Amino acid sequence: MKLNRRNFIGKTILATAGSLIGFKYTYAQKTLIYKGKKNKPVVISTWNHGLKANEAAWEILKNKGRALDAVEKGVMAIEADPDILSVGLGGLPDRDGYVTLDASIMDETGNAGSVSFLQHIVHPISVARLVMEKTPHVMLAGEGALQFALLNGFKKENLLTPKAKKAWEKWKKEAKYKPIINIENHDTIGMLALDADGNLSGACTTSGLAYKMHGRVGDSPIIGAGIYVDNEVGAAVATGMGELVMKTLGSFLIVEFMRNGLSPQQACEKAINRIKQKLPNYKNFQIGYLALNKTGETGAYSLHKGFNYAKYDKKNNRMIEVDYLLK
Ligand code: ASP
Repeated sequence: MKLNRRNFIGKTILATAGSLIGFKYTYAQKTLIYKGKKNKPVVISTWNHGLKANEAAWEILKNKGRALDAVEKGVMAIEADPDILSVGLGGLPDRDGYVTLDASIMDETGNAGSVSFLQHIVHPISVARLVMEKTPHVMLAGEGALQFALLNGFKKENLLTPKAKKAWEKWKKEAKYKPIINIENHDTIGMLALDADGNLSGACTTSGLAYKMHGRVGDSPIIGAGIYVDNEVGAAVATGMGELVMKTLGSFLIVEFMRNGLSPQQACEKAINRIKQKLPNYKNFQIGYLALNKTGETGAYSLHKGFNYAKYDKKNNRMIEVDYLLK
């Protein structure tokens, strides 16, 4: 049985009963048990490049590997691809011509790591994982993150490819020198996986909005905004205009909606509707959410048309067009 309305009602009764006899609501939540068949392993990731990322992740998942390793390897394939203009090597720079990267990762124990405003490193996701595993911190930023990476053997590289530089030079001629946000210049790779052992992990990595202000950090490295994983419930990732995601703490919100009984699809829709309720100029921006729950059920929703994601499970690796709010 999936975590559905019935479970939710059951849980509410349990919680109410619990509070009457002295248990806390959180205690009742922990008693939630997911029964029935699970769709595992499964991996989902944002946008067209998700297909390639999923292939890399599946190599690990099909051999009963850990979801954490799968999501790291999966998004690394996109970070290293110079033809993808929104992630890692070849990412479009900020308005001053600097490629600055954000990335985050979460494992099944609730551990989290991230880097923000990191330059010169092809694989920020692996630096984020090291922050998670080797430091007492969650996030390292800018120069400190770079130093940490170099000390740990990462190589300093020029990430501004000729292709990205050309695009930036063209933009400079036409653009007014201020951050202009359109809905086409972002394509973060966000990936969520459930492994054969039933454990969840997630990863998110991006060069952020193209031609952003120098120093701008988006939602992707902010735990709870760009990504959230709770191994008891589910996981979520975001893409699109990060400022809207940060202001509504989108990924955490989706996981909490799932905790309260919504399916991944319903949870994503509700989080997009939260943006509509709270942020008056929401129509000018694109946001896409992806979610995966503990049973392997997936969902996605966006503000505008055009968001898609790749899903790889026992069936195959395929693209799925996402339903959206503004029709
Ligand atoms: N969410 C990212 C950011 O705001 C952009 C993206 O999804 O590509 O930095």
